[in-house]
Amino acid sequence: MTGFTTSAIHGVALKRDVHGSLRVPVYDTVAFEFDSAKDINQAFAGRKPAHTYSRITNPTVEDFEQRIRLVSGGATAIAVSSGMAAITNVILTLAGAGTNIVTSKHLFGNTLSLFEKTLKPWGLEIRYADMSDPATVSRAIDNNTRAVFLESITNPQLEVADFRALSAITQDHSVPLVVDNTVTTPYLFRTRDSGVNVEVLSSTKYITGGATSLGGVIIDNGNFDWRNSPRLKDWGIKMGPLAMLGALRREIYRNVGSCLAPHHAYLQSLGLETLSLRIDRSCGNTLALAEFLQQHDKVASVHYPGLPDSAYHTNAKEQFCGRYGGILTFDLNSKHECFKLMDSLKLVKRATNVNDNKTLILHPASTIFCEYPDGVLSEIGVRHTMIRLSVGIEDFEDLKNDLEGGLAIL
Ligand SMILES: *Cc1c(COP(=O)(O)O)cnc(C)c1O
Repeated sequence: MTGFTTSAIHGVALKRDVHGSLRVPVYDTVAFEFDSAKDINQAFAGRKPAHTYSRITNPTVEDFEQRIRLVSGGATAIAVSSGMAAITNVILTLAGAGTNIVTSKHLFGNTLSLFEKTLKPWGLEIRYADMSDPATVSRAIDNNTRAVFLESITNPQLEVADFRALSAITQDHSVPLVVDNTVTTPYLFRTRDSGVNVEVLSSTKYITGGATSLGGVIIDNGNFDWRNSPRLKDWGIKMGPLAMLGALRREIYRNVGSCLAPHHAYLQSLGLETLSLRIDRSCGNTLALAEFLQQHDKVASVHYPGLPDSAYHTNAKEQFCGRYGGILTFDLNSKHECFKLMDSLKLVKRATNVNDNKTLILHPASTIFCEYPDGVLSEIGVRHTMIRLSVGIEDFEDLKNDLEGGLAIL
């Protein structure tokens, strides 16, 4: 077993390119031809692996899927068109009308909206628990629970759960534990080692390496017996550990049509090759900026799991290889000050992405969460005085100078 970066670069040798191309080319194509009617029949029947149509599989996408599977330590991986597509496909695979999922109110905004506004009207019950208190999760689970879903570091609350404790509970109830590993990625968080069963990723963020394209991944860690899942039981009997991949590839993913474009898969593979270098740098910059902001007298408070006074420091340290991600938040004394600081910055960009190569700043209450009233905002821990900083890989001194200049005029 090679190390993370070696695996990310070399991937899995699937087939030698006809020209000996060192890099798997972009197969921007839809259909694939066969030598005989029997061959195409065998491909469709799943008896002989072959690409038939790019909504189902594609060589460039497959190369990316195999690389991410390799670095994550998972059993199977499937790439989709975005992080939201990954979450949607997983929930459609595991749950249905008349069942429930247990999750947290501290979720990526669109995920919360997917659950509440899109899936709830289809008959899915959404139950909320406090993921930092495993006993509340245990109490929320019943016979109709089809998944427990949470994020590795919530955004913008920056909470980190104890995943081993949660997995002990979900295992007890035979319910799959699903984790959105976007902001930590398999480089910082090997979800399988903490007993997580299914991992979803928005590869749009860290993995793509500079916000070049949208993408998502679903990884089955191979540690859940799908014969215990009411929805996947038949697939489990037929395909064993490949059940979830089978259900997606031959039914849900195929039918929903949320495939990753080959060109995007190519960009994401390219990003994956340098992921470890960029995350190391981004995490280093984030910790240094958190420490700088913490001692600044215009800053009311700083929130980052990397700071020893964070309530989530120990969980993060133990589970994320001693690094704490590239996102921090800090509070000023008013919304007015937040806007004034943001408007004064010259290098840091006002934008809504996270884990870009560039450092990005955002006022969550007036943007991502602007559709929610104050009562909901306080429930989900979003304050009008809070600024979110997603820290990139620029030179630290330049970032510090930009923020220092902005804070000086408050
Ligand atoms: C961005 C993000 C998503 C959604 O990903 P897209 O690729 O934008 O669809 C989901 N979860 C988390 C934690 C994210 O940061």
